[in-house]
This record gives sequence, structure tokens and C-alpha cells, in this order.
Amino acid sequence: MLSITNIHASIEGKQILKGISLNIRPGEVHAIMGPNGSGKSTLAAVLAGREAYEVTEGSVSFLGKDLLPMLPEDRAHEGLFLAFQYPVEIPGVSTTNFIKAAVNEKRKYLGQEPLDAVAFMKLMKEKMAMLQIDQSLLSRSINEGFSGGEKKRNEIFQMAMLEPRLTILDEMDSGLDIDALRIVAAGINQLRTKDNSLLVITHYQRLLDYLEPDFVHVLYNGQIVRSGTKELALEIEQKGYDFIKEEAGLAE
Ligand code: ADP
Ligand code: MG
Ligand code: MG
Repeated sequence: MLSITNIHASIEGKQILKGISLNIRPGEVHAIMGPNGSGKSTLAAVLAGREAYEVTEGSVSFLGKDLLPMLPEDRAHEGLFLAFQYPVEIPGVSTTNFIKAAVNEKRKYLGQEPLDAVAFMKLMKEKMAMLQIDQSLLSRSINEGFSGGEKKRNEIFQMAMLEPRLTILDEMDSGLDIDALRIVAAGINQLRTKDNSLLVITHYQRLLDYLEPDFVHVLYNGQIVRSGTKELALEIEQKGYDFIKEEAGLAE
């Protein structure tokens, strides 16, 4: 699904990622944990193709294609979905119309006919029922005045409608209380299939109780310093990140 090989990346001339390699197979859930400033969001940004980030070395293959030369929107059309870091607010554009445009852009890219109004409504209703999303959320301007929890539910709805192969969640848990977190995580779990994969970026273990990762990687100072199973996340929750730094011989 996704194969990251020795990625080095910098922003404004400052090197942030220092040789990241990671393989994600279909159906797998990988978590990336790490202290603040370790480069987690930078990795997500590089995968999404954000302009400010310069990849100086390494390669990424996504579903057999070379990802890095692709435009951000084409990455999305190919099945990559990055959620939560920068929720857009667009006054005057309803969530429904925003999603309809996104769905049909993707279909166009894939050489498919656009969905007509009837087919689109049918798909909307199906996904709304699945995620227990309220109709009123969808008629409001996208993200305008939404609470943190509503923004995240809305993104999960977008994800459901776009049916990505790989979803990257960057700090989905930030700003969510425990009830909202549980609802959002349950929505994500409902969208999981044996063909789709998740890359969950988080500072805290809490979210991983709900999204049970197959693998956990610890990012520190731009490198993956340790990989393990979900027990590694529990160990970090108990001991903090210091022991990882010490073990890696990186203590400052
Ligand atoms: P994390 O998500 O793990 O908290 P980030 O990827 O956001 O870490 O940041 C990694 C490092 O890159 C930090 O030292 C941060 O200060 C730096 N950084 C992030 N964005 C910028 C930017 N726009 N300009 C300069 N430095 C940045
Ligand atoms: Mg941060
Ligand atoms: Mg971050």
C-alpha cells in the first residue's frame, strides 16, 4: 500500500526528517507516536504534498506509484486522505456541496462519470446512516462555527464519502473530550476494511485504545527510534518518552 524509503525532509532549510522508512500493507493500522516537535506532522505534510516541505532524499510509493512527484489533489484522487490538521472553513458553501464537488473531482480523475443528484443523495444517506451523522450538519457552511467534535465528525463523513485506501489522522485526539473522541473513533472503525489502511499520528496513547494499531512506531528527532506492537504505546503511556530517548542514546 505505502512504502516509505529513507525520507529526509526539511522546511525553510531546516532538516526535520532524517531518514524515515515505513511499510504499510492493506488492512493494517500503524500508529506514529512521539514527543512534540519530533516531526510527526512534517511526515504527514510530506505525504500529503504540502508545498513548504522539501524532500531532500528518499522515495515514497503508494499503490505502486511514485507518490512524491504527484500534486496534492492527485494524491487524494489516488486514494490518500489526510484528516484533521487544517480543517477549512468556507462560508456560503454547504458541506453537502463541498463533498459533492470532491467526490466528482475524484471520479473525473479516475475516468468515471459524475454522480447525478439521485445517486449522490443515495450515497450520502447510506454513509450518514452508517456514521449516525445528522442532516443538519450537512446543510451548514462547511466547518463554519463547528465545534471541535463536529469538525472531526464532518471529516470522517468526507472520508466515508471519498472511500480512501489510506487515511492519515494527524492528532485527531487534540481538542476532543473523551466522549467526542469515542464517537469519532467509532466512526473511523466502521470505515475500516481489509483493503484499507490507517496511519494514526498521536502524542497520547488514549486514542489507540479505540483504534487498536497493528504496529506502533516512535518518532524522535526526525527518526523512527523504535517500532513495536500496541504494547509499546502502553509502555510509553506509563514511562513517558524519556526512556525511549535514553535507550536510543539520544538523551539531551
Ligand atoms: P510534531 O508534529 O511531532 O509535533 P512537527 O512536524 O510539527 O512536529 O515539527 C517538527 C519540527 O519542525 C519542530 O522543531 C518545528 O519547530 C519545526 N517546524 C514545523 N513547521 C515549521 C515551519 N513552518 N517553519 C520552521 N520550522 C518548522
Ligand atoms: Mg506538535
Ligand atoms: Mg504535530
